[in-house]
Amino acid sequence: MNYYSTNDKTVKVGLLESVMKGVPDDGGLYMPERVPYIPKAFFKHVGEMSVHEISFVVASTLFGEDIESEALKTIVTDTFNFEIPLIEIEPGIFAVELFHGPTLSFKDIGARFMARMLEYFCSGKSNDSPLINVLVATSGDTGCAVANGFLNIPGVRVFVLYPSGKVGKIQEAQFSTLGANITAIEVDGTYHDCQVMVMEALKDRVLNEAMILTSANSINVARFLSQMFYYYYIYARLNAMGVQTERLTIAVPSGNFGNLSAALYAKRMGLHINKCVTASYKKDIFDDYLKHISYSTENSAVDIGQISNFARILDLYNNDKEAILGDVVSRSYDETAILQTIADVYKNTGYILDPHGAATYNALKDAISANETGVFLAAAHPAKFQAVVEKAIGSEIEMPEKLAVFLNREKQSVKMSPQYPALRKYLLNVKDILVDK
Ligand SMILES: *Cc1c(COP(=O)(O)O)cnc(C)c1O
Repeated sequence: MNYYSTNDKTVKVGLLESVMKGVPDDGGLYMPERVPYIPKAFFKHVGEMSVHEISFVVASTLFGEDIESEALKTIVTDTFNFEIPLIEIEPGIFAVELFHGPTLSFKDIGARFMARMLEYFCSGKSNDSPLINVLVATSGDTGCAVANGFLNIPGVRVFVLYPSGKVGKIQEAQFSTLGANITAIEVDGTYHDCQVMVMEALKDRVLNEAMILTSANSINVARFLSQMFYYYYIYARLNAMGVQTERLTIAVPSGNFGNLSAALYAKRMGLHINKCVTASYKKDIFDDYLKHISYSTENSAVDIGQISNFARILDLYNNDKEAILGDVVSRSYDETAILQTIADVYKNTGYILDPHGAATYNALKDAISANETGVFLAAAHPAKFQAVVEKAIGSEIEMPEKLAVFLNREKQSVKMSPQYPALRKYLLNVKDILVDK
């Protein structure tokens, strides 16, 4: 299968190139050149299938021409080395917990899948073939998921750039204490500086001739497409539980619209989703994007900070705003409402929501009508937002072992000034140094 750029459909590349490049030169986003359909027969027995079996069918439909079947099976099996519980917290309302991976974020899924796909593409190369260098700028969660997803993947090295003193302690520990093929670069600047430095490096011709560079941010096609797996799994679990899926609403938190675009794409590929709901904090970012449709289509990349998956949604709907609004409802909530929701749900059901989950739960409740089934994504473990959650519920929450272990490890970071030449010089210096084994 080839992938075109949302800015110019005549620009097409194969899977390997789309994953390696991340973003096309014209600043669009990669999309599969045709929508592959999941065979109808699949849905008949889906309730009996495991997350691995379901993901394998979806992955084969998308990547079957490019990756051998056995290898693809291994990739999806290794991606999901953790549970995805679906919990009915009140009648007809389900939380799908995507936070049981190594960094307790749904981002683990896309990052683990992408890492294993790159590993597959590197395998078969000789031992002295050049390393793939993954650059990622982070304000927290993305760095954690990418660093842990790529940890000890042969042939790949990761550099996580983050603003010094501006990332949570637990999050910093999750990418700066790993060692091996993961290097944390502590930039004496802002998150934006980190993004600009990564963007400059990816555009630098000389540097790109000297070493293989790629980026693992959320718009990579391997991350976007692998996020579809869990929507099929949700549908399967509901069927296995005997819950009606004729009228199914899925609610997701919004940031870069990775979850939303994956849900809409899964629907297009044949998954029965009635409606999607997207929730944001303070201002309705989905609505903002929709109002600025021309901006998003004419001018995307340039500043990586502006990149989101929104262009994929526009592309999927041929820029038809009405059609998008037929499938998507958006809502936003302020901090007071979110704290109240966390408190209320805890009091009424005992379930502890994270702040994004609370906004998403609210949006689902607002958008759903009687006799519908609603599922909202619990995208991060509540302990990742310990202070807010404890304030809302008025008691302490337990720190999961998976997070606690990071805090006992020693930080190892490379300090750097917030200018691109510093990163360039550093990368040229380390380009021939092999990673610790
Ligand atoms: C990353 C993240 C988001 C944003 O997700 P998108 O798929 O990019 O919209 C939302 N909530 C949480 C908890 C996240 O970690």
